[in-house]
Amino acid sequence: MPSFFDRSFELSARTTFSGAFLDRLSERRDDSEFFRDLRAHPASRVVLMSEDAPLFASRGDERDVFFSFAEAESFGPLEDVILLGRSQERAYFAAHIQTNADTNHRSEGGTRGFSPAPSSKGVESVDLRSVALLGLVHSEALGLLAQAKSLVYWHRRHRFCANCGGPTASAASGWRRECASCGALHFPRTDPVVIMVTTDGESCLLGRQARFAPGMFSALAGFVEPGETIENAVRREVREETGIRVGRVAYLGSQPWPFPCSLMLGCMAEALSREVFVDRAELEDARWFTRAELSAMFAQTHPDGLRAPNSIAIAHRLLQVWLEG
Ligand SMILES: [Zn+2]
Repeated sequence: MPSFFDRSFELSARTTFSGAFLDRLSERRDDSEFFRDLRAHPASRVVLMSEDAPLFASRGDERDVFFSFAEAESFGPLEDVILLGRSQERAYFAAHIQTNADTNHRSEGGTRGFSPAPSSKGVESVDLRSVALLGLVHSEALGLLAQAKSLVYWHRRHRFCANCGGPTASAASGWRRECASCGALHFPRTDPVVIMVTTDGESCLLGRQARFAPGMFSALAGFVEPGETIENAVRREVREETGIRVGRVAYLGSQPWPFPCSLMLGCMAEALSREVFVDRAELEDARWFTRAELSAMFAQTHPDGLRAPNSIAIAHRLLQVWLEG
């Protein structure tokens, strides 16, 4: 009998973007000499974000998301260089760079329509959803890219102090911004979002937003508000979006969701009512689904062409857990 703490039970460890192979070296971040030495080391690698998408180099038939600093700087000046961490004597950094690389945008909910475009420098930017859906990097590197994307996004939107309006500068190896005018310290943010599968016996409540791929239904979700517990956020969101009252709530696992800086908190919720009133401002539709219907959605054999959320979403994992009982 496996222990309750056995890692095989940790849903979070199986979610996309959860890969974590780096020692984040958080105790060394204020050591600027350490930062400089690691940055100058020839073994160090940097991932480059162009706007909000990672850059890939074409190396023969392979794509590579890791650059040496010499190669990265040949493309142009690096901005907001952040020490992500170290693994097996190799340090990994992230930085922003302005490029004219071609960007391949995700075709919503699917991988068809993706075709790598050549660029003058042999680099291309691929948005992170497509990177995950297409499996362009191994799962641990996806975690590193999520870390890089959220941090670079935060730096680029916190150039000025929220307290006094003065300019801020990166510090602590990229893990803090400081205001020289008033001394305020600013730290990278992570926004908690509850995402929940609400069940009533043999059926579960799913909804769809207008922006979803055609036919796709998924778990309801919403930001946790200040002064709110995870459980109460689940109850409030389900009630607001569908009118369903929720009783017991169980937390199952989390997922870093770098679009741009969220942490998804995956929960199961127990319905206390049955009649659905869809909040059309939030959702295009919401309704109950039977286990058989959900199985057909996963198998893509639903008679109405309805589909389950794709595999990179924690909603996919939560629904699998429920299907497997
Ligand atoms: Zn300030």
